[in-house]
Amino acid sequence: MRSAVELVNSAAAPDSLTSIDDLDGIFDRYGYTGRHDRSDAELHQVRAIRGELRDLLLGDPETTVALINSTLGRYSSVPRLVRHDAIDWHLHAVDDFAPLAHRMLVETAMAMIDVIRADETSRLTTCADDECDGIVLDLSRNRSRRYCSTTCGNRNAVAAYRARRAAD
Ligand SMILES: [Zn+2]
Ligand SMILES: [Zn+2]
Repeated sequence: MRSAVELVNSAAAPDSLTSIDDLDGIFDRYGYTGRHDRSDAELHQVRAIRGELRDLLLGDPETTVALINSTLGRYSSVPRLVRHDAIDWHLHAVDDFAPLAHRMLVETAMAMIDVIRADETSRLTTCADDECDGIVLDLSRNRSRRYCSTTCGNRNAVAAYRARRAAD
């Protein structure tokens, strides 16, 4: 889920997913396994699914459910329980040799199943910064996260401070 949010947010200007190295970074940071071609074609595919990922994460529940079902219908194979690296038993719903972009879509759809079933879609919102349409994933207990990044948070804190000073 965090990786899907980062992928979607990477599309905001300046785009931060433009090279195979950028994709390597996401692959490593989020502990992806399986096929990773390190090719321009793969990078292009992953860049191209960011809109679909955004719709999966931010749709109203009915829309998200329809997208989850169509994504699973298109890409998933037989789900199986696996345990690898430091990650305990979890489901893989798609073959390890399927293209990375397809696995990212299916993995996000699988994560959204849990969100829908727990009725927690309100934890995914857009950034409170007027100029930013980044996604905020708020996993805090008191749901206090409003900005997609510390950059957006700081920019707004400074603006609020200036506005208070100007009002004095
Ligand atoms: Zn896994
Ligand atoms: Zn933001």
